Amino acid sequence: MHHHPGLFIPGPTNVPDAVRRAMNIPQEDMRSPDFPKLTLPLFADLKSVFKTQTGQPFIYPASGTGGWEAVLTNTLNPGDKVLISTFGQFSSLWSDMCRRLGFDVEVVEGEWGEGVPVERFADILSADKDHRIRAVLGTHNETATGVTSSIAGMRKALDASDHPALLYIDGVSSIASIDFRMDEWGVDGIVSGSQKGFMLPTGLAIICVSQKALAAHASSKFPRCFFSFEDMQRANKDGYFPYTPATVLLRGLRASLDLLFEEGLENVFARHHHIASGVRAAVAAWGLDLVARDRKWYSDTVSAVYTPAGVDAVQVLRRAFDRYGVSFGSGLARLNGKVFRIGHIGATNEVMMLGALAAAEMALVDCGAKIELGSGVAAAQSRYGARPQVLAKAA
Ligand SMILES: *Cc1c(COP(=O)(O)O)cnc(C)c1O
Repeated sequence: MHHHPGLFIPGPTNVPDAVRRAMNIPQEDMRSPDFPKLTLPLFADLKSVFKTQTGQPFIYPASGTGGWEAVLTNTLNPGDKVLISTFGQFSSLWSDMCRRLGFDVEVVEGEWGEGVPVERFADILSADKDHRIRAVLGTHNETATGVTSSIAGMRKALDASDHPALLYIDGVSSIASIDFRMDEWGVDGIVSGSQKGFMLPTGLAIICVSQKALAAHASSKFPRCFFSFEDMQRANKDGYFPYTPATVLLRGLRASLDLLFEEGLENVFARHHHIASGVRAAVAAWGLDLVARDRKWYSDTVSAVYTPAGVDAVQVLRRAFDRYGVSFGSGLARLNGKVFRIGHIGATNEVMMLGALAAAEMALVDCGAKIELGSGVAAAQSRYGARPQVLAKAA
């Protein structure tokens, strides 16, 4: 019997006890006079998480994928041109959604292991003299490859040619774990979900849009109903929803935000960086390669690791699960069988991660990898002996 949840995938993530307790409650009346006492502060506090003064958050009973759709269908028109780069499974799926929704999608196919090609985007945007590109899309943290992109760099690419396109970011595996600054980076739409950095079960799409995106909404003729901003805004302003909200998850979100603010967002980011650096030290000690090709792309929420030649990553995942009760993320799409992913997002600490690394090491060795038992764990331990540094405030 496995008593430890052993969940080291990049979402759903482990739910802290305080959050679980907050959700162990009777059902409640979502039209009661005191329901807004829960919801109005949630909207205000989400703005702090997204680092925005003027943005407008929305919470849907959906997953992150619904958040993608909400942002696109509320602010664009069918046939609008959008620019996106694909460099992993999630950016590819978002691009595919754009195509299926009927947008004119300009795709820059990137290398899996690199991030948003901001120089290439700058060239495309400056060549787009009559501003046909209406939105530029970026995946902040590509969960399939463990690659984090520079959103400040995307903003620069737009500003270099004074391009007015909307900037939409998928932050599903970065929000509340990796620094994100909506206002400073001029982001017009940010998408996240409950089951990653927010440490909740799946079931909420949590997004935030700028005033510029709300202005675009006024002229957007896209058919929509469930995700309609105007229905949401009308009800949300008094703390209610146009349909039944996921009240239990909203209670959980309250507890999750309390934990994040108690630790301090900057400390949360520093902790993720600290935990991730131990994982990367272990991977290096094993002599294995990350999918991320350069340290500037390294993700602090997920590490995608190539197994050695001749060692099937599917077998490693199976062995870790069957024998040690530990789940790692699988290699997605073209990385299947070659890669396993170690999730280090949400409620994690050094000791949990050392357990995960020990299990990964054993599963790799059991499947034939020539790795010295303990080598990765020791490398991580020497990292974890040093206290995490609070990130300096950006200049
Ligand atoms: C998990 C994830 C998604 C998909 O979210 P769902 O909640 O599964 O719909 C999208 N983008 C990224 C980067 C993700 O990590």
